[in-house]
Amino acid sequence: MTATDRSAADPAPYPPFTEEHELFRASVKRFCLEEVAPYAHEWEDAGEYPRELFRKAADLGLFGIRIDPAHGGAGMDWWASAAAYDALRYTDFPSLNIGLLDQMDLAIPLLDKLGSDEIKREFMRPAVAGESVGALGISEPGCGSDVAAMRTAAREDGGDLVISGQKLWITNGATADYILLAVRTAEHRHKGISMVVFPTGVKGYRVGRKLKKVGNAASDTCELFFDECRIPKRYILGERNQGFYYIMEHFQGERLATALMTNALMDRALELAVRYGKERHAFGQPVGSFQVWRHRFAEHLASVEASRQLTYHAVERMNGGKQAQREITMAKLFATELAQRLTYDCQQIFGGFGYTTEYPIGRIWRDVRLYTIGAGTSEIMKEILAKEEGL
Ligand SMILES: Cc1cc2nc3c(=O)[nH]c(=O)nc-3n(C[C@H](O)[C@H](O)[C@H](O)COP(=O)(O)OP(=O)(O)OC[C@H]3O[C@@H](n4cnc5c(N)ncnc54)[C@H](O)[C@@H]3O)c2cc1C
Repeated sequence: MTATDRSAADPAPYPPFTEEHELFRASVKRFCLEEVAPYAHEWEDAGEYPRELFRKAADLGLFGIRIDPAHGGAGMDWWASAAAYDALRYTDFPSLNIGLLDQMDLAIPLLDKLGSDEIKREFMRPAVAGESVGALGISEPGCGSDVAAMRTAAREDGGDLVISGQKLWITNGATADYILLAVRTAEHRHKGISMVVFPTGVKGYRVGRKLKKVGNAASDTCELFFDECRIPKRYILGERNQGFYYIMEHFQGERLATALMTNALMDRALELAVRYGKERHAFGQPVGSFQVWRHRFAEHLASVEASRQLTYHAVERMNGGKQAQREITMAKLFATELAQRLTYDCQQIFGGFGYTTEYPIGRIWRDVRLYTIGAGTSEIMKEILAKEEGL
């Protein structure tokens, strides 16, 4: 492989990736190029994508990457997840990617970590097989960053929990078969939240508005209503009133996955922009050969590599079971902020074509805007880091 072959399209191989990881990466890439990318524009315009994609993603093994084979997973590691997120850039369809990420690293790992064997059989196995779609329900109209302010309440009634309240911004909300739901089970802010698994077929549950967003149009983001919904108490995950702490721990996987996905999209944006810069001519030369673009892309290549290595450092720690909050927080903050500037420049070189919705670059620029907001805002990432330093 020459240095040019590698460029943004194919970042430097990193030692922990084994042959098994590379085979997995190749099969995910094939799925993206053949089954998703050709239809992405049509689905984005329609504002939805076929549910069947979840089944196909499951067949590839995307939902059981780190899940024990006894529960239908592949029992691989975070490097396999890194390879998968890297390959998912080829969907050119971030709307689908966040739906998949939701199932891969928001819903299923919580069931895996906190669910009893019975819960795993009932909810996790079908999710890993792509037969059911999951969502994570934490945010509400009055709380996002301030998780402990959530109000959706669950009271006990015999062997049941009765849930009433409202959630907002829930990805996969309209399609979800089950929700990992945060509910208030006691008055104490942090020590009064429990996690439950909530099957959406329950009476009193209603999907409200599908929110119209600036980007990621085909990803359903919904408001959800719970009116005296009854679920059995055995659907409580882990210990009662420990939900806040589970959520904070769980955010680590979500943020690491977000950083991995963001790096991959930056690579994709650079790949598309560099290619266009070579093909498009103005004033008798390829636009990418003007020094202003050469230097801009050189800087971005260095920045995205730095972002990737920071994220890989976090993966390494996560994989080894070490404390990784600091590294993950840095990786999420760095990657998602960089992506704003980088995708802006990658779009800019496309001129007017970059401003149409027909080119993937326009979608990527618009859709990465979400990443400094979702999974914890940049301001919250900075708060975490500053607090860790004792500031
Ligand atoms: C498309 C989309 C999908 C989403 N999917 C999900 C989902 O699946 N499940 C789910 O539970 N949630 C989801 N969310 C919600 C998301 O996690 C929240 O939007 C996010 O955490 C921010 O919360 P908020 O919108 O309430 O903003 P707020 O918390 O009200 O914050 C408003 C502003 O104030 C800043 N701010 C807040 N606190 C501080 C502070 N201490 N210091 C400095 N600045 C501060 C924030 O950074 C932000 O800029 C989604 C959101 C979007 C937009």
